[in-house]
Amino acid sequence: MAMGNALKESGGIWLGWSGQSAEEDGAPQFSKVGNITLARIDLSRQNVEEYYNGYANRTLWPLFHHRIDLTAYEQSFRDAYLDVNRSFARAIRSLVEPGDVIWVQDYHLIPLGRELRALGVKNRIGFFLHIPWPARELFVTLPQHEDLVWSLFGYDLVGFQSNKDLAAFTDYVATELNVEPSGNGLIDHFGRRLRARAYPISINPAEMVELGESEAAARIEATLRGRAIGQKIILGVDRIDYSKGLPQKFAAFERFLERFPERHGTVNLLQIGQPSRGLVEEYRNLGDELAAEAGRINGRHGMLDWTPLSYHTQSYGRDALTGIYRAADACIVTSLRDGMNLVAKEFVAAQAADDPGVLILSRFTGAAEQLCEALLINPYDKEQCAEVFGEALDMPREERVARWKELKAHIEENSLTDWQQRFTHDLRATENEAARNS
Ligand code: UDP
Repeated sequence: MAMGNALKESGGIWLGWSGQSAEEDGAPQFSKVGNITLARIDLSRQNVEEYYNGYANRTLWPLFHHRIDLTAYEQSFRDAYLDVNRSFARAIRSLVEPGDVIWVQDYHLIPLGRELRALGVKNRIGFFLHIPWPARELFVTLPQHEDLVWSLFGYDLVGFQSNKDLAAFTDYVATELNVEPSGNGLIDHFGRRLRARAYPISINPAEMVELGESEAAARIEATLRGRAIGQKIILGVDRIDYSKGLPQKFAAFERFLERFPERHGTVNLLQIGQPSRGLVEEYRNLGDELAAEAGRINGRHGMLDWTPLSYHTQSYGRDALTGIYRAADACIVTSLRDGMNLVAKEFVAAQAADDPGVLILSRFTGAAEQLCEALLINPYDKEQCAEVFGEALDMPREERVARWKELKAHIEENSLTDWQQRFTHDLRATENEAARNS
């Protein structure tokens, strides 16, 4: 979503998986959307299984989110990952013109830069990791972890979401490769020079204001407010993913209901659970667990005229979602580990200035490095979370406005457009290093 918005402004060629599977990997199919050329590639069924559902979503995703208990260490997944990156590199090669800058996005494509270099591409190539970089002690459980890091040296610039991620990467480089980055994040190794820096991704706040004025947003905001008379809405919006701490959120809410019976009937936790990666077993299990928990909590605490937890496993359009943000009195993010968390930023940007809602934010998100005026929580601590629910619901308007102004200012000063410009500016500025690297 963020990338689509960023590319809309600059134009360019977007190349990626079409989302379709076929008998065999296909050639790129081109189409045009505004000033963006889309080059979409079908993947073979086997590659969807081993590369996408496999190495990307069953190896790198859980490992980088510190779930080595869920990490699949399969050689066949890794082989497919390298294979697909090699075919993507071949597909891009003919599209690259001298002077182009290439910006590779996310963990599915870490080796792409190195593969492009192997095909003789000398352009500046940057890479941005949208998910966290793992702690060294966990990362070294990955067979051939050095090889993955070597891949990163195919790039001129590598961007991380947060200073914490950057620190984890430089810790690996210092300890495993014996290289200390110099000033400005320059790292010389494998005969190449790479610059590593943090570029926290963001949203364009003006877009949220615009979406908030749409008919769909107004309609859904009015419906929710009408339904919730006498009740405050605490909102959660998450993909159904084990990194989002959803069982912890439900448990904290139940603890809140146990500890504060006087609140019964006055509050509703509205949780949107966006279906995700249904082909991976862990995701299906989590979906089943959450549905059962929501039913159990409502059965135990609900009353004939009050349902404490509304759990919707649906995906909403961004206009409708903005209406939901605007109707909520608070938004709670309980991620156990999250590269950034854009929902937190969208919620802030969507609020009305005279009566903004409260953001409750896990300290384990990249967003917490910037959004310090949120109510920061440790989602593993359900007693703390239970108290923070009450604090958010009771926060006087003056304090809500003061906190919100600071939060909104951070987002306005570091928008998605700023993020894109900072990265591409720095990537272009690596020209000397690119010449040196070639
Ligand atoms: N989102 C959406 N519809 C939904 C739920 C979420 O469009 O029903 C969008 C949301 O607006 C946000 C993104 O999905 O832009 C979620 O991003 P985030 O960084 O919070 O988490 P991710 O899913 O990328 O881990």
